[in-house]
Amino acid sequence: LRVTVWNENRHEQLHDGVKAIYPNGIHQVLAGFLTKAGCQVHTATLDEPEHGLSEKVLEGTDVLTWWGHMAHDEVKDEIVERVRQRVLQGMGLVVLHSGHHSKLFKRLMGTTCSLRWREGTDHVRVWAVSPGHPIADGVPAFFVIPRDEMYGEYFDIPAPDTIIFINWYSGGEVFRSGCCYHRGRGKIFYFSPGHETFPVYHQPEIQKVIINGVR
Ligand code: ZN
Repeated sequence: LRVTVWNENRHEQLHDGVKAIYPNGIHQVLAGFLTKAGCQVHTATLDEPEHGLSEKVLEGTDVLTWWGHMAHDEVKDEIVERVRQRVLQGMGLVVLHSGHHSKLFKRLMGTTCSLRWREGTDHVRVWAVSPGHPIADGVPAFFVIPRDEMYGEYFDIPAPDTIIFINWYSGGEVFRSGCCYHRGRGKIFYFSPGHETFPVYHQPEIQKVIINGVR
């Protein structure tokens, strides 16, 4: 499975707290566990020419993962359209955390993709609500993320084809945190955990979900 891990890679360079958790960037942590899982992984970041997403790279990509936050607007429309076309042709797409507001995800969904959010000290329970689905394979009925940003309803997305996970937060909110879609020949999985100031992508259960999602 040929996977391209795309990361904006700005917080890691600008904020010491984030750099401490992801010294080589979020993409390198994702690439590390996906490689261990047997994927052939390539990484790409915003500041590379064509954001690292040339026609050639996309042609050689079965699944693309996307993490972006502070620089969504800097992603060129031409590249967004190129990636969107590849999804419609059958490339898989895994959109992570704040990627909900990327041009790419909004364009594929057709809605604002806005949500309720709060940065605080919430702990999170991630509930598997489609336990027979391959993305929930080997994932317990629920698991806890010790700290993450709160993303809550209402989440302005089209009704998902399948909801895999629902999050509960210690502040009382809930959120459709794992959602699947078909667009054209492509499959899309959105998974919300992963605020950059917490070591969420180092957590084994999170890695398991992302590996399953890529597969
Ligand atoms: Zn965040």
